[in-house]
Amino acid sequence: LGRRELFPSGTAVSIGSAVIGDGDIAVFAGPCAVENPGQMMSTARAVARHGSVGLRGGAFKPRTTPYSFQGLKWAGLDLLAQAREETGLPILTEVVDPRHVDRMAEVIDGFQIGTRNMQNFELLTEVGRSGMPAVLKRGFGCTVDELLTAAEYLLAEGNDQVVLCERGIRTFEGATRFTLDLSAVALLKRRTHLPVMVDPSHSLGIPELIEPLTLAAVAAGADALLIDVHVQPEQALCDGKQALLPEDFARLMSRLEMLALGV
Ligand code: PEP
Repeated sequence: LGRRELFPSGTAVSIGSAVIGDGDIAVFAGPCAVENPGQMMSTARAVARHGSVGLRGGAFKPRTTPYSFQGLKWAGLDLLAQAREETGLPILTEVVDPRHVDRMAEVIDGFQIGTRNMQNFELLTEVGRSGMPAVLKRGFGCTVDELLTAAEYLLAEGNDQVVLCERGIRTFEGATRFTLDLSAVALLKRRTHLPVMVDPSHSLGIPELIEPLTLAAVAAGADALLIDVHVQPEQALCDGKQALLPEDFARLMSRLEMLALGV
């Protein structure tokens, strides 16, 4: 159902007021994890001011070790809803459990399915059934074909509001956290009518590389970007090393604007 030939002009996906795949680059920015009211509100205000069309933020965090911060869970969703109230930005947040889908759908604007759950088929089916838009992240050990067949689980439920997200894969290269596979972006744009998002933050783990790889992702055909921003990255409870400060995010947004204008 995702084959490009079926909709050669491409599918546009609406996450609240934000549209992905309409020809503009849609940026969803915010903290990796929702941590407390002050951090969430100040980050949300900053990304809204600098042109983000949506708010990202994890309330349920699937961490590699159980001893890391696991997220504020339902309390985190309440803070995201407050941030939406104040900024008007729609909320994109990760779902980790099929049993959470209905309750989350009452609050959020779009589901994110994380790299570790790309092949959690029950979760995919449940999100597909909800009819809500979903960003499906590529499993870091999965091929492009596996990403496309995982997306079919959502599409097969009659839900075409699916965005595919390249967020880096595991290779022999250890200099960056993962290897951002931009060839997958160019390939996906040819193979599927679904829009493509790129998350340079989780892939690189090095803030200085985010700007060049973001520009490269757009050149490769990305429709949307997912960017970690934190007002105090050194105090972040999750992935602080990769987060941009609001001022760096502002610079990135103006570079994107210049790219769009062909300056
Ligand atoms: C995230 O975006 O918050 C996240 C955990 O990303 P990934 O699933 O790509 O690691």
